[in-house]
Amino acid sequence: MESTAGNFKDNATKALADDKLRRALSKLTQGFPAKRLEAAGRLPEFEDLRDQARDIKSHVLANLDFYLEQLEARVIEAGGQVHWCRTAAEARSAILRISRNAGAKTVTKSKSMIGEEIAINEHLEHHGIQPVETDLGEYIIQLRHEPPSHFIAPAIHLSKEQVAETFRESHTHLAPERSLQEPRALLEEARDELRQKFLSADVGLTGANMLIAETGSIVLVTNEGNADLTYSLPKTHIVIASLEKIVPTLEDATTILRVLARSATGQDMTVYNTFCTGPKRPDDLDGPEDFHVVLLDNGRSKMLGTEFHDMLRCIRCGACLNHCPVYKAIGGHAYGWVYSGPMGAVLIPNLIGLDEARHLPNASTLCGKCESVCPMRIPLPRMLRAWRKRQFETEKTSAIGRKALKLWAFLAARPWLYRLAVAPGVSVLAALGRKRGRFRRLPLVGGWTQNRDLPAPQGGTFVARWNREKSREKQP
Ligand code: SF4
Repeated sequence: MESTAGNFKDNATKALADDKLRRALSKLTQGFPAKRLEAAGRLPEFEDLRDQARDIKSHVLANLDFYLEQLEARVIEAGGQVHWCRTAAEARSAILRISRNAGAKTVTKSKSMIGEEIAINEHLEHHGIQPVETDLGEYIIQLRHEPPSHFIAPAIHLSKEQVAETFRESHTHLAPERSLQEPRALLEEARDELRQKFLSADVGLTGANMLIAETGSIVLVTNEGNADLTYSLPKTHIVIASLEKIVPTLEDATTILRVLARSATGQDMTVYNTFCTGPKRPDDLDGPEDFHVVLLDNGRSKMLGTEFHDMLRCIRCGACLNHCPVYKAIGGHAYGWVYSGPMGAVLIPNLIGLDEARHLPNASTLCGKCESVCPMRIPLPRMLRAWRKRQFETEKTSAIGRKALKLWAFLAARPWLYRLAVAPGVSVLAALGRKRGRFRRLPLVGGWTQNRDLPAPQGGTFVARWNREKSREKQP
């Protein structure tokens, strides 16, 4: 997928001015966090499960070579093939080669972020093979030629009226009198269209939520069941997965499934959890005759052992997006590449380079909410700070920004001077803003006040308040 991450500021400005997008995002970001909280509350061992899930993936990353070789051996034993790919180009070529060998004209596809990362749809189309997304959200955005705006709700930026309009434009056989006002009618229309595609596909291309080393199985998780039809109906099944998706055992996979659904959608378990191992066996009623696993690195092995190592524990649940104040305001497209939110702001510079993704590490308030909800306990704020540090050290921060940071660092290292410099300013702002409680405009903070008011300081400085509270505590 082509990146517009370098235009993050413009993308974000456009997103902030888009009222439809803001309404759609507010529904998503109010709904998912509340459901996650309820689901976590129903499970007393949820926090322990998070620790276990983190430890499983940390162990895998420390022994990745061993588990990858084990996985390959088991896939081959089960009758499948593994294709090792260093780059996106190698993965695209492998998928095209397998599809051509299968004589494919149509490839059905279940949701895969790696598929987006390597732009497989465009590649197949370019070579005369029609890819068809089968997840409802992905299907809608494929018709609109748009990238997903959220891992688990790819069309969340659209209203039902926009979806109806898209179906009317794309489904040319659709009778004008057919009503598409209700979500159910939209669902039925998509289902009718997709059934035919499922039945006529030559190849099914899926991602993998996990790869299990001890059995060579892949795990597919959906709420619509589309991945099951994608992999089981065509004669050839191709799995595209990045190498950190591996877990050692079936039991480890179930531990991660228990935190994945709760963190993502607030469900106790996703509706369809499918474990596929190799091609169809003689006594199986259905399933593919050919089974291929395309294993992609694409820059991940370079992250091992760096300050971004722990990012490879990510299971793409989307919880950090749902809780991020920046994502909630601008949505996923503004980040300009496949991934978004705090995890995207850390991962994208690793995959496409800090020069292209230079704004993303700053697309965070560092409030820490992302880390507090991440089921894999990934220290996202620490990594965002690591990128900012690299930017500063390699002089990629703007000249004004560097001067401001140096000044701040000088003051912060001298608390008495800091207080002396800050306290009068705070008092003046508090006095000026007392009447309204906020500022509509203020010199030097135009970037903020362009889209919202700046709250006036209420009372004294934090340090003054801290000292007051502490002396209160000491009183008998
Ligand atoms: S970083 Fe954590 S919260 Fe964010 S998508 Fe990955 S696993 Fe989920």
